[in-house]
Amino acid sequence: MALQDYEKSMNYCIRCSHCKWIPFNKIKTKRFSANCPAISRYNFHSYSGGGRVAIAQSLFLGRSEMTDEIRETIYRCQLCGSCQVACHLIGEICEPLEIARELRIKCVEDGELLPEHMLMIDGMRKEDNPFGEPKARRGDWAEGLSLKNINTDKADVIFHAGCRFSYDADLRSIVRGAATLLLKAGVNVGIAGKEEACCGGRAFDVGYRGQMENYADDIISRIKAAGATKLVTPCADCYSAFMQFYPMIRKELDIEILHTTEYFARLIKEGKLKPRGGSSLRVTYHDPCHLGRLGEPYIPWNGTWKKVWGQLNIPDPPKQVRRGTGGVYEPPREILRSIPGIEFVEMERIREYSWCCGAGGGVREAYEDFSEWTALERIAEAKAVGADALVTTCGWCERNFKDALGKRNDDFKVYDITELLMGV
Ligand code: SF4
Ligand code: SF4
Repeated sequence: MALQDYEKSMNYCIRCSHCKWIPFNKIKTKRFSANCPAISRYNFHSYSGGGRVAIAQSLFLGRSEMTDEIRETIYRCQLCGSCQVACHLIGEICEPLEIARELRIKCVEDGELLPEHMLMIDGMRKEDNPFGEPKARRGDWAEGLSLKNINTDKADVIFHAGCRFSYDADLRSIVRGAATLLLKAGVNVGIAGKEEACCGGRAFDVGYRGQMENYADDIISRIKAAGATKLVTPCADCYSAFMQFYPMIRKELDIEILHTTEYFARLIKEGKLKPRGGSSLRVTYHDPCHLGRLGEPYIPWNGTWKKVWGQLNIPDPPKQVRRGTGGVYEPPREILRSIPGIEFVEMERIREYSWCCGAGGGVREAYEDFSEWTALERIAEAKAVGADALVTTCGWCERNFKDALGKRNDDFKVYDITELLMGV
């Protein structure tokens, strides 16, 4: 797709501003009624989903030209997708998220780049990860675990750790724990170790579509060689890349794709995994955007636009726009309810209406203050329901929450579901 492919969709934006809040019938308090970090932080229409549609339309029609301010506005957005979920109240075919994404691809094509994102892409080109850490050390997290090496052996399940979990020393126990739980459940699981590459999702988010295409080809060839039937990842970003981005660029993995929480919930039901539990904790759950609304399967559409009544363009056949309802919401909650000692309470903005952690869309890398502010908003929401800890299941969310808390010497706890399953 390209920006011009969304020309008709842009016309459907009626500037109603519904994309700035969670749906009105879901609001519990004014304090936690906003859904879009960008408009909430910058309070100017251009930062909202609808504002981004207006920017795209104006650039597309040649009414305005790219400026530093416009480029800044385009990148001050986590691509969390919340605007697109909220928009369904009014229009069925306006797609602010897809349009915001295409704007970035256009920025890259036009050389309108952010230096912080170029650093990330350089790291990927040299070492296959956005941090530029040595590729040779990617598999170090698995040292001493009896995992198959899929570069030489066959395995039923490929475990894809992802960049954040592979290199973040503070989160290493989570990914080791997840692999250990799979081994204990008797799963024939293998990893690519130092040969594992980035999924490319972060590159796609900042507008580098080509970079992601290379990574998709790499993973497809590994899956074929290993003869695996499942691809399991603990990282929500990778999950979203496999479920949505790859099919979007017509790179099908042709394998069952599972987030660890989906697989763990299944193994618990089959009696192959027993949640251990530990201390008594009142916890709340943060739905990572990439596992929730951005984790729902891609819905292809190969139709055309036809004119009705001589003026209105409608998609033929009707286009089913992704609104986040098909994401992974229940398995993490099932796991939390199954762990002895855990009391689980919900926050106000949950499932497809979840507030973003702040780390996505290249915002963590380029706009640290905005990223932190977004994380603190979510932490405030967790505290408001009296939770002792915020639990999630994405390394990027965990890193962002922990950094925001750490800078304020706040000892509010953040856990990955895997840690609770292992017993904290
Ligand atoms: S993107 Fe959707 S919700 Fe936002 S202003 Fe446009 S039509 Fe309204
Ligand atoms: S993707 Fe998220 S941050 Fe960006 S405009 Fe939409 S709701 Fe706001």
